[in-house]
Amino acid sequence: MSFKYLCISALLISCTSLLCSCSSPLSSSVTESGGDAQNLDVFAMNTYMSMKAYGDNAQKALDDSRELIMRLESELSVTDEGSCIYELNKNGKGTVTDSAAVLINKAVEIGDRTGGALDISLYPVLKEWGFTTEDYHIPDDKILADLLSDVDYKSISISGNEVTLPENVQIDLGALAKGYTSDSIMEQMSADGVDSAIVSLGGNVQAIGGKPDGSAWKVSVRDPFAPDTDMCIVEIKDKAVITSGNYERFFTGDDGKNYWHIIDPADGYPADNGLVSTTIIGDSGLECDALSTAFFVAGKDKAVDYWRSDRSFDMILVSDDGKIYYTEGIADSFKNISSMEAEVLRLD
Ligand code: AMP
Ligand code: MG
Repeated sequence: MSFKYLCISALLISCTSLLCSCSSPLSSSVTESGGDAQNLDVFAMNTYMSMKAYGDNAQKALDDSRELIMRLESELSVTDEGSCIYELNKNGKGTVTDSAAVLINKAVEIGDRTGGALDISLYPVLKEWGFTTEDYHIPDDKILADLLSDVDYKSISISGNEVTLPENVQIDLGALAKGYTSDSIMEQMSADGVDSAIVSLGGNVQAIGGKPDGSAWKVSVRDPFAPDTDMCIVEIKDKAVITSGNYERFFTGDDGKNYWHIIDPADGYPADNGLVSTTIIGDSGLECDALSTAFFVAGKDKAVDYWRSDRSFDMILVSDDGKIYYTEGIADSFKNISSMEAEVLRLD
């Protein structure tokens, strides 16, 4: 996939009013800024990316970040013929880059920890639905069953950078790549001497520190029932806020129903286990991205059980009957700006 650098006129992270909800394809936004910021907008990984950095080294940090994004896209893309993932899928074995190895190992780990809700070997199923080409259609049951019989992330063999896939198994890192990318941007910017910055990669937000005045960033999360509007705001410093939602990519089938891009490995159909949006807030973009997708598949009860035993992150879940659930770690900064009822989830 080639890069396009776009000038996004309605940059969410440069909105100036508190509840500004600028038009954009992003699913989360930062609603406040100020000071002497440098901005950079990129279209990569099939999504709009906005970056904002403060301080003397901001421009260099943004330039380095752009280079980093280009490198990661060319390594991790499933459709780019030069990527190690493309080669791996084509040949059934290959030497992957260090970044791809980190992602594959993390995907297997989160697959194990979520009972297989996250399964990066779903790629052939995603292709059959047309989610990779936008040539959408509801698959034939028999074809889907055949494809599903080869889906099993446990069949991926990885040792260092050497990966082997059984026949008919292909992988796609789309569920975690953006979180890994925002982690990497944070590392790059910190190494460049920036201590106040925020990025939004298609609505997945991550920040270094707080705003230049020391206060927290205010990040809004989209209303899955009305994706042009925001539903809540959380305040963060040094954290990632990563959302998976059924409104992000979907098509309407001949039967009039909507079908979205997050697939349940149990039946090969779009995951429909009671949640329409999952947002994870934590230190690691990679972990948050993996969990947001996995919890969307697993449903609320399993997500809450996981959170209670792990405790290293916070989350905001929206159920398909229109209720928001958010964890107690963000209770002080969580602001509901929707008409939905919001309930706090306690550890015990
Ligand atoms: P996200 O937007 O982070 O939730 O990731 C969604 C993307 O992950 C989809 O576009 C697919 O490429 C991929 N995907 C869909 N369902 C799954 C799943 N159950 N496990 C792993 N990857 C998935
Ligand atoms: Mg994800």
